[in-house]
Amino acid sequence: MENKNLDYDLGIIGAGPAGLSAAIYAARGGLSVVCFEREVHGGQIVSSPEVENYPALGKVSGADFANALYEQAVGFGAEILYDEVTAAELQGEVKLLHTAEKTYRVRAVVVAGGVARRKLDCPGEDRLLGRGVSYCATCDGAFFAGKTVAVVGGGNTAVEDALYLAARCEKVYLIHRRQGFRASEAELAKLRSNPKVEFLLDAQVAEIRGDMQVESILLHSTVGAPDREIPVSAVFVAVGLIPSNELFRGQLPMTEQGYLVADDSCRTALARVYAAGDTREKALRQLVTAAADGALAGSSAVADLAGEATL
Ligand code: NAP
Repeated sequence: MENKNLDYDLGIIGAGPAGLSAAIYAARGGLSVVCFEREVHGGQIVSSPEVENYPALGKVSGADFANALYEQAVGFGAEILYDEVTAAELQGEVKLLHTAEKTYRVRAVVVAGGVARRKLDCPGEDRLLGRGVSYCATCDGAFFAGKTVAVVGGGNTAVEDALYLAARCEKVYLIHRRQGFRASEAELAKLRSNPKVEFLLDAQVAEIRGDMQVESILLHSTVGAPDREIPVSAVFVAVGLIPSNELFRGQLPMTEQGYLVADDSCRTALARVYAAGDTREKALRQLVTAAADGALAGSSAVADLAGEATL
């Protein structure tokens, strides 16, 4: 294999729990590792006020968890570059990762870019972004202390956001388009017993209204009831995730929803290319499964590169 002028053994796209766990396993396994992050290390978990289901950790804040993971990866020698990979050439023996300034040549790649928040795609959403429309309750909730707000969605994120906001706001409407929830029953039970929370079910947000700030939302019934306008100061959108895999379309197999397909060892169809964390097709998207994927991808890279020439 042509191995001159390589920059690192392993390039990791994304420094969330999956990417940083891959960095720990790969760097500890003797590879030179670079991890690219376009936002903040830690990924989505940074906005979780409290994680209580990571085995053996009890309760820990998402930000503390992310920082501990970062320190551990760096401690083993991984480099974290706060730069966006804008294109990737994964087919060849040498993999090329392009950023705006530079092209990095690596022997193997872990794709761990995670997922982005889905938008509602209704009038007012973009115009009032940052003026009451938010995708992160823990980032922006404090601005609406004592106010009435809405959370949209029926998954764990919406329920967690609503609980977080109920501790700060006067009232929280939880708006969901049907009666059934994807969120876990344990979290839902906490929400149901919270007197500050009102459920508005079978309802879609048709429009977010306001001049300079969010003032109200127009709700369209999904079961044929009349539309309603509800005064709120903020709308927290938590309607799911979309994988950030457009860079790899045509190079790596993906599902109809855009999740990467990888095997039990996180190997994709391409040699020395791995997919880890929320970005890949899997049954359970949790912190613990992201970390486990990272461990598998990092270890697979160590094993696959072991028999080959080194830098
Ligand atoms: P999710 O589980 O996919 O839920 C998205 C919710 O948004 C669904 O209830 C969906 O409704 C609704 N929705 C989707 N598109 C919509 C639209 N255009 N308009 C209105 N509603 C819409 O997403 P998530 O809550 O962000 O969670 C993502 C993953 O992270 C899940 O696997 C979740 O378990 C995990 N997570 C875990 C924790 C935890 O364990 N502590 C915390 C947060 C997230 P329908 O149900 O009708 O489709």
